[in-house]
Amino acid sequence: MSGLTRHTAAELADALAAGETTSVEITRAHLDRIAEVDGTAASGGVHAFLHVDAEGALAQARAADERRAAGSPASALDGVPIAVKDVLATEGLPTTCGSRILEGWIPPYDATVVARLRRAGLPILGKTNMDEFAMGSSTEHSAYGPTRNPWDLDRIPGGSGGGSAAAVAAFEAPLAIGTDTGGSIRQPGAVTGTVGVKPTYGGVSRYGLVALANSLDQAGPVTRTVLDSALLHEVIGGHDPLDSTSIDQPLPPLVDAARRGATGDLTGVRVGVVRELGGEGYQPGVLSRFQESVDLMVKAGAEVVEVSCPHFVHALAAYYLILPAEASSNLAKFDAMRYGRRVLPDGADNPSAEQVMRASRDAGFGDEVKRRIILGTYALSSGYYDAYYGQAQKVRTLISRDFAAAFEKADVLVSPTAPTTAFKLGEKLDDPIAMYLNDLATIPANLAGVPGISVPSGLADEDGLPAGVQVLAPALADDRLYRVGAALEAALVDKWGGPLLDRAPALATNGAVR
Ligand code: GLN
Repeated sequence: MSGLTRHTAAELADALAAGETTSVEITRAHLDRIAEVDGTAASGGVHAFLHVDAEGALAQARAADERRAAGSPASALDGVPIAVKDVLATEGLPTTCGSRILEGWIPPYDATVVARLRRAGLPILGKTNMDEFAMGSSTEHSAYGPTRNPWDLDRIPGGSGGGSAAAVAAFEAPLAIGTDTGGSIRQPGAVTGTVGVKPTYGGVSRYGLVALANSLDQAGPVTRTVLDSALLHEVIGGHDPLDSTSIDQPLPPLVDAARRGATGDLTGVRVGVVRELGGEGYQPGVLSRFQESVDLMVKAGAEVVEVSCPHFVHALAAYYLILPAEASSNLAKFDAMRYGRRVLPDGADNPSAEQVMRASRDAGFGDEVKRRIILGTYALSSGYYDAYYGQAQKVRTLISRDFAAAFEKADVLVSPTAPTTAFKLGEKLDDPIAMYLNDLATIPANLAGVPGISVPSGLADEDGLPAGVQVLAPALADDRLYRVGAALEAALVDKWGGPLLDRAPALATNGAVR
């Protein structure tokens, strides 16, 4: 088998099952690809990875090959390698969350998601770059330098999970794990031409996921196809007694739903176009690609209705009170006494605990993290709690009610995933509000806990950059994402005459990033 890095995870799994290749070959091909294109932020490489574990991945690949040879694979994906966002604890592997404050931390345990990947036999290639503590939409807030978009190395790969999306888009990994608190799986998916899924809140364990905002965070798949996401979701999802918010119910059949959707038939599916997620603020090309996707769903037999979710216009404002509130509380533990890197203040002979905390937090946290700690602390302070945090929680309830009403009329809701295609590195770095606006369409799902998928919708601007279409479903109905997503993907790939990523100009066909 040749061109191992160009295959989907499902194809690699089939080839492994048929004995046409080995996990060691596949894993080595991806490690070679990483060595070839990843580089560092300064060298101008993709810089999707903060840490590559070649030795560990190859050892896991050898074990996978032994299981296959013995006729007892651990799962359908046994031996298919994966990259993991650096916000998930990995035993024996650095976990920094893109922050200086966790530099050098090696967790003594695995997050449940990671434990499940290991149990299913997926070799872990390494840890991917991210905005510090998952705050951002461009991966530029990483303390270790940005990741570049494989479509155009001068542009952002989205965020906060830009590393995972870029690794998959640049063929450095067939699969990756991301986390999505306000869009960090779906928006990077949209701007890199990859597929990203935010599962139902509680559908994937948060144990060992370093919390940004506990009530919003959810880990999920980052892949090149909808079927690959379904395969991965079935590995990582399901009840976990170590997470008190984990849902104690079996997952719906996701892979079956994706296979059914791939036949291209959406007869009987009611698709709701959300009036509030479009129009002003969205790039014209993004809207045209979205409209084409809706037309293709109609052609596939879906019934399209327009729905209104009037409170979605307040989602961003509510999110930027609830998220900083939770984040400021979560980050309080990095006091340099029990947690986090310790920095001694300059010029103090016998520094007090408070001086050490101040110096450590000053050096350990970047500007965006500090901004949100200040915002969150303010919103939670006794005099303002009701006016800000309390009010935002009320808006959150109204948004959930909007979803409930919309799902009376439609089985799934659709919108563009992100308002624009990938912008240039540096373009929005000094303008927090412009950065926050990237998540206009993705945030409502996190506030309500409902699942969402982003599927590439096509090339959406004069520079030939990709955009995404988002499909949302009611909580626990993640299977609908896969059915509708796979049908849409089948229609679009047919229209393009092949996968969209084959058209990425920065990716030369011989495998090198141009
Ligand atoms: N971009 C959003 C933020 O900065 C979402 C982040 C995320 O999903 N982790 O908060």
